[in-house]
Amino acid sequence: MQDPIVGIDLGTTNSLVAFADARGPRVLGPGRGLVPSVIRVDPTGVVVGESAKAERALHPHTTFASVKRLIGRSAAEVRDAGAPQGLGLVDGPRGLAAVRVGDRTLLPQELSAHVLRELARVASAELGVAVRRAVITVPAYFDDGQRQATRDAARLAGLEAVRIVNEPTAAALAYGIGRGHRAAETVAVFDLGGGTFDLSILSVIPGDGTGLDGEFLQVLATAGDTALGGDDLDAAIVAHALPPYEAWLGGPATPQGMERLRAAAERAKCALSTVECTTERIEHEHGAWELVLDRALLESLAQPLLDRMAACCRRALADAGAPAIDRVVLVGGSTRVPAVRALAGRIFGVEPYTALDPDVVVALGAALQAQVLAGGRTDLLLMDVVPLSLGIETAGGAVAKMIVRNSAMPARATEMFSTGVDGQTAVKLHVVQGERELVKDCRSLATFELRGLPPMPAGIPQVQVDFMVDANGVLAVHAVERRSGRRAQVQVVPAYGLTTDEVDRMEAESLEHAREDMHAHRVIDLVVNARLDITWIEEARTRAGALLDAAYLEDLEGHLTRLKGFIALAERSPGQVDADAFHAAKDALDRASMRLHEAAIVQSLQSMDRGVKGVVQP
Ligand code: ADP
Ligand code: MG
Repeated sequence: MQDPIVGIDLGTTNSLVAFADARGPRVLGPGRGLVPSVIRVDPTGVVVGESAKAERALHPHTTFASVKRLIGRSAAEVRDAGAPQGLGLVDGPRGLAAVRVGDRTLLPQELSAHVLRELARVASAELGVAVRRAVITVPAYFDDGQRQATRDAARLAGLEAVRIVNEPTAAALAYGIGRGHRAAETVAVFDLGGGTFDLSILSVIPGDGTGLDGEFLQVLATAGDTALGGDDLDAAIVAHALPPYEAWLGGPATPQGMERLRAAAERAKCALSTVECTTERIEHEHGAWELVLDRALLESLAQPLLDRMAACCRRALADAGAPAIDRVVLVGGSTRVPAVRALAGRIFGVEPYTALDPDVVVALGAALQAQVLAGGRTDLLLMDVVPLSLGIETAGGAVAKMIVRNSAMPARATEMFSTGVDGQTAVKLHVVQGERELVKDCRSLATFELRGLPPMPAGIPQVQVDFMVDANGVLAVHAVERRSGRRAQVQVVPAYGLTTDEVDRMEAESLEHAREDMHAHRVIDLVVNARLDITWIEEARTRAGALLDAAYLEDLEGHLTRLKGFIALAERSPGQVDADAFHAAKDALDRASMRLHEAAIVQSLQSMDRGVKGVVQP
């Protein structure tokens, strides 16, 4: 690889670097790759990211966060907008917003350059070559001055900003929106971060679909609130919890106590994105105080903020000429809050895209843009058909194919599934991709759970599973248990992480193994069904055995033993099972159990004391 181009999301709260190759885009760096946009200027050097953030309280006058709020703006303008707390804003050269460290005045681009340098270092380390070029994203509303200052920050960091791309455009690109599109499409990008809310309405200008230059994504309108974000949710929780906390403390909380309460509030908020109720402990020398919060309470605290978001969305829609919205893309950590997701879906009337992590979606889009600018091919898996079959895991590790390879996009399929164990209250769904018959030979795409089912006997729940691949190649899987109405869903981008070479290899392997795969799948199904049969036959025998003669019961036992023998062999060495003989043994047991079946009905009717003699033919 020579002189790669990376994609950078230079965020207010967190920044990331990503890179795209034949496998699609991925975030670089350790962990999830998020680098807090926090910079500390020490006399001996500069500290960036996690450690600067963690030690912020110790160095309040030399640590800077949220510098993106200052970049390329005049000090007067920033003051008018309500200067961010704790940044030590001063007038720089030409009236520009700047900060003071000791006797030095620093421009925000100098601070941002440190974040960019750190990202370039992370990327160089992982790619194994010096990284000198990047696509960098900025909010859609950034003016020329702010864009130029961002370029300057890159230059100071030794990076060439090959292109500056709008954040919402990058997010849309990450979802494949606008790639090879012949039809117009209107997209709402809903970005709720730590401190800002940005709503953008984009329009895909239909083209010949040969490129991915982002220029066929036009910004129709933007609206937002630079003082509305996840931090405000934390503050609302703090305001709610402070009186009982101070009552427990027996006096006003210290600044340190306030910070611990705020941190607990943020933890509780994040936890409530996945669970219904949470308890966060704040440890003190004389015991611990517990912050107990449930989702309903969080939502009522969030209501005023949700109302403000809704107002912004309506304003942007009106500015854009009230178009119908085809897609909603979620960006920013705070869009994990279920009430925020629901609001976005409700206002725009479509289920939002959630396949990609909202924290990284902008960086991924920037990387895709960089790949095109570097001359890399991105058309590989972006065809109009589903490149590999999509399916779901069934009992025993077999795959039930839902959408077969080469289906035209959009494509959809619906199938009904049930449980294999009595009283199951949760069903795990595993979405896989590939041509082979067994899960172990396919690519795992996602897992999710359908929870809270009322206990029912095996085979009674009706789990309807829907697969939908839309024109952008995003797969949405929905599951609903029809008796209880419980539902769950997951989204993925199946093409990411997969090269055309792999697609070819998987196809070739499926042909090569077709016979053995079919055999294996058949044996698995036989084992699953034979087990169910044996379970109910043994149960019926316990209940109604007394009504039957010894010779019959002995014959039945013989059939059971034979079938169990096949199951045991299938478990030891499935390759050696004669599937036809297995099938015949199962049929034989089924036939032999008819009398038992009738006896069981008679027995249960007798136990109801209806005086029934027998069961008539249908
Ligand atoms: P920015 O765009 O400002 O850089 P991010 O997109 O990184 O910000 O979002 C940071 C915000 O997301 C924080 O307020 C954080 O508390 C919030 N957040 C992160 N994860 C979750 C979660 N699981 N549930 C709710 N909020 C979350
Ligand atoms: Mg952001």
